Amino acid sequence: MQFNFIANRLLPSASGKSIPVIDPSDGMEFDQIQRSNAADIDSAVKAARSCFEQVWQGLSAAERGRLMMRLSTKIAAHAEELAMLELRDCGKPVKQARADAAALARYFEFYAGACDKLHGETLPYQSGFSVMTWREPHGVTGHIIPWNYPMQIFGRSVGGALAAGNACVVKPAEDACLSLLRVAELAAEVGFPAGALNIVTGYGHEVGDALARHPGIDHISFTGSPNIGTLIQQVAAERHCPVTLELGGKSPQIVFADADLDAAVPAIINGIVQNAGQTCSAGSRLLVDLAIYEPLLERLGQAFESLRVGPASMDLDLGPLIRQSQQQRVWDYLSDAQVAGIPMVAQGTVVDEAPDTGFYQAPTLLRDVPVRHRLAQEEVFGPVLCAMSFRDEAHAVELANSTRFGLAAGIWTRDGARQFRMAKRVKSGQVFINNYGAGGGVELPFGGVKSSGYGREKGFEALYGFTTLKTVALRHD
Ligand code: NAD
Repeated sequence: MQFNFIANRLLPSASGKSIPVIDPSDGMEFDQIQRSNAADIDSAVKAARSCFEQVWQGLSAAERGRLMMRLSTKIAAHAEELAMLELRDCGKPVKQARADAAALARYFEFYAGACDKLHGETLPYQSGFSVMTWREPHGVTGHIIPWNYPMQIFGRSVGGALAAGNACVVKPAEDACLSLLRVAELAAEVGFPAGALNIVTGYGHEVGDALARHPGIDHISFTGSPNIGTLIQQVAAERHCPVTLELGGKSPQIVFADADLDAAVPAIINGIVQNAGQTCSAGSRLLVDLAIYEPLLERLGQAFESLRVGPASMDLDLGPLIRQSQQQRVWDYLSDAQVAGIPMVAQGTVVDEAPDTGFYQAPTLLRDVPVRHRLAQEEVFGPVLCAMSFRDEAHAVELANSTRFGLAAGIWTRDGARQFRMAKRVKSGQVFINNYGAGGGVELPFGGVKSSGYGREKGFEALYGFTTLKTVALRHD
């Protein structure tokens, strides 16, 4: 049984209820988390407030940085344990789980070093005045985390908020709490003061909603689906609480005829099969120059057929999806494709060792997907790649910008001028030219436009969002 982590103590929820933890690789329950409610959120917010006012804001930025660096080192020392927790909890293949644990350590390392680099400015003004800006923490920040990359998203969101001097209350996704509860224990072990980092588990409509509504929360960082992002924004608007929204995507991979296909093909495949396609910035739309549409699809089709799906511990190309409802969601999209007569180019294989009770889905390549079909417009959040062709550069831009999302885009061409033209005209928060994802770089700001959200996390940029700017004007003459 897992407990909430409030003020450096493991506590049962006020409701006395729990939620089963299911292993997606076999569909079996193997643990339980607390099913918390508004009372638990209230305790966590009070603990965070008291820590912020009595301890946390009294530390110098350098002292905060040293604590964060100790946590980074501790996470690195426990990386294998954390990776194995997430492997079981989320169905992540070994390599992915290890990469996520390493990224978490790196986030805390990066933000540890950033603590004492964040500063305001002095501003020219009328004579007789000295004017400066101070970057101040919001106070108590709330973090609502999805299940697809719990450690990575915790690292970029909570890491940035702590570095900026906030105390945090975290609500992980109900499907993915184990690694984060363990990280909170590690934080206490390295000396984080009680209340600086609190974790409360439970369902979104209960405990997530209570967190978003709590008047003691000064800023909300939400990462998740666009629908829930809308709810969060509405709730936060009632008390004018600032929010950062990191939402979904339907990101295009745009391949021109002059592209280096030896580089593009593996990146296109990884962009949709990584984490079984359950990635906000998955490259789920493939836009291909008509001149190379057929040969590229043939090449990709062969590659898709060799992809293998199985239990996380087998460390194949893909593990299971997170839960049965997610599997059903992907099936629904695929059966819609069949009804609409959208041709399937190829599918990978679910290995025989995969238990029937696990939530597996073979990666699927579809072609000629009509631009207005929901498969070309909506986030499937599974390993389904939708290919379509374009006639020229203008058509490629039109297709790329044809959804309500704008998270990431991949552009594959050797033509330098076209690289810049495309990067300027595609509406998205990230543009990757002749690569996809830039290896997840912790240093690189990340976020969306349109329905993919707003605000930036990751990199130094995140620190601005986790602070508020105070202008101080002093008249001395
Ligand atoms: P989700 O919106 O269902 O849940 C996200 C979090 O919100 C969970 O912790 C959940 O418990 C909580 N929640 C649910 N209902 C709530 C409510 N009424 N009030 C408050 N909190 C509530 O999303 P998910 O299914 O966990 O994650 C998948 C989505 O997240 C996808 O759309 C994906 O694109 C997006 N995502 C975006 C990014 C990004 O950086 N842009 C990163 C990862 C995932």
